[in-house]
Amino acid sequence: MWFETDKCFIGGQWVPPLSGKTLTLENPSDGSNICAIARGGAADIDAGVSAARGALSGVWGKMSAVERGRVLTKIGQKVLQRADELAELEAMDVGKPLTQAKADALALGRYMEFYGGACDKIHGESIPYLNGYTVYTLREPHGVTGHIVPWNYPMQIIGRSVGAALAMGNAAVLKPAEEACLTALAFADIAHEAGLPAGALNVVPGLGVEAGAALSTHADVNHLSFTGSVGVGTLVQAAAANNIVPVTLELGGKSPQIVFDDADLEAALPFLVNAGVQNAGQTCSASSRILMQVGIYDRLLAMMVAKYEALKVGPADADLNVGPLISGRQKDIVTGFLGMVEGEASIVARGKIVSDAPVGGHYVAPALVAGVKASHALAQDEIFGPVQVVIRFETEDEAIAIANGTDYGLVAGIWTRDGARQMRLAKAIRSGQVFINNYGAGGGVELPFGGMGKSGHGREKGFEALYGFSVLKTVAAFHG
Ligand code: NAD
Repeated sequence: MWFETDKCFIGGQWVPPLSGKTLTLENPSDGSNICAIARGGAADIDAGVSAARGALSGVWGKMSAVERGRVLTKIGQKVLQRADELAELEAMDVGKPLTQAKADALALGRYMEFYGGACDKIHGESIPYLNGYTVYTLREPHGVTGHIVPWNYPMQIIGRSVGAALAMGNAAVLKPAEEACLTALAFADIAHEAGLPAGALNVVPGLGVEAGAALSTHADVNHLSFTGSVGVGTLVQAAAANNIVPVTLELGGKSPQIVFDDADLEAALPFLVNAGVQNAGQTCSASSRILMQVGIYDRLLAMMVAKYEALKVGPADADLNVGPLISGRQKDIVTGFLGMVEGEASIVARGKIVSDAPVGGHYVAPALVAGVKASHALAQDEIFGPVQVVIRFETEDEAIAIANGTDYGLVAGIWTRDGARQMRLAKAIRSGQVFINNYGAGGGVELPFGGMGKSGHGREKGFEALYGFSVLKTVAAFHG
C-alpha cells in the first residue's frame, strides 16, 4: 500500500502509536489478516489535538475561504483520480462488492468538490437594529473538531463530516473504526499530497474504548461528530455535555418504505430490495421495514420473493449483489435475529451464497421475513444485516402509525401516485429524510441528512452541515 498502514497521521507526518501497539485488520470476505494497524490511545489523540490546534494558528488557520476551497477541490479531484485504488482498499477492508466500493470512492470525491465549492459561499448577514448601529453576523469555525466514524461507509462518512468541517476552517482529528480504517489513512495521504496544510487533518486509528473515548472526552476539542450505534452515541453525548461542546449524532435506524395500492410496483421493486441488502444491510439508512397495503400485498410480496431468490452473495472482489458482513460478531447478531422468526412470522425468501465463497468469510444469505407484528423486535430493532420485514396495512393512518412506531426516525420512502397523499405523509412521518417514489436519491451529497428520535440529531451533508460545523458570532457596532 502507498501509505503507512500501522501508523497514525499527525501533523502531516506518519507516526507510530506512542504505545507501540498494533491491531490486526481482518478481510471479511475470507477471514484472512490484511495488515497491522496502529492501536492509537489517549497520548496519540492528545498529539492529534495539539497538531490540529497548531494548524488553526498556522498556515491552515490563515488561509482565506477561497484558498481553502481550492485545496478541498484539489483533494476531491485526486480522490476521483484514485477512485479505483480506494475502491479496492474499501472492498478488501469492509467486504463490500467492488461496484459499491467504487460508488463510495466517487461520493468521497464529490463531497470534497461540493464542500470545496461551498467554502466561499457561506456567510453571515447584516441585521437592521437601532439607529446609530451596524450589526452583522460572522460564521466562524468551532476550532478543533473530533470525528468518530464507523466501519460501514468510511469514505462517505469522512466526506460528509470531515469535508464540511474543513470547509468551515476547522482542524480535524479523525478516529476511524478499528474494523476498517484503510481508506481513512489513504485519504489523509491524498489530502496531504493535494496541499492540505499539516495538522488540518489528523488520523488516529484505534479501539473505541481507547482512542474513541479519549477523543470524545478531550478537553481541547470544540465540536464532536459521531456516527455509530445508539449506545456509544449516548456516551459521546455525555462526554460532550461534560465539556459543554456541541455534538452531531448520526445513529441507527429502522427505516420504512410504504407502498400503497396505487403505486408503480415495477418502479418501486429495485428500491425496495436494494435499500435492504446494499452493503449487506449494514447501512444506517437501510430500509428494513416494507409496509404493503392489502390490495397489492400478495403481488408485491411475490415480486420481492423473486428478486430475493436471484440475489447472489460472495466475496467483495467477485462483485456480486451482496458481500459478507463485517465480522463474525456481526454475523452472530444477525443470525440471532433470524432465530427469532417464529409463530405467524416466516422467512419467505433468501438469497444464495455462491458455492465457492471462502469458508472463513462472514456470509449471511439475505432474508425476507413476512407476517411479523409491528411491535416485534424484528420490526423494532436495528438488525444491521440483510434482513427486511414485510408488514401489511389497510389504511393511511395505520401506515403512518406503524412507520412512526419505533424509537428511530432516519429515512422513509413513500410509494403512491396520489399527490395529496404524498404531501400528507411527508409531513406526518417522523424522519430526517422522506423520499417520494424513490429511496436514497443516489447518495445525496447535497441533501441534508440526520435523524429524529434515537436516530440522532444535527445534520450532515449539503449546505446544512456547514452551519453545524461553524459557530455564529454577532457583531454590534455603535457609530452614532
Ligand atoms: P459503534 O458505535 O460500535 O462504533 C462506531 C465508532 O465509535 C467506531 O469508530 C468505534 O471505535 C467508536 N467507539 C466505540 N466505543 C466508543 C467509546 N466508548 N467512545 C468513543 N468512541 C467509541 O458502531 P458500529 O457498530 O461500528 O456501527 C454501526 C452503527 O452505526 C449502527 O447502529 C448504524 O446504524 C450506525 N450508523 C449510523 C449512520 C448514520 O449516518 N446515521 C451511518 C453509519 C452507521
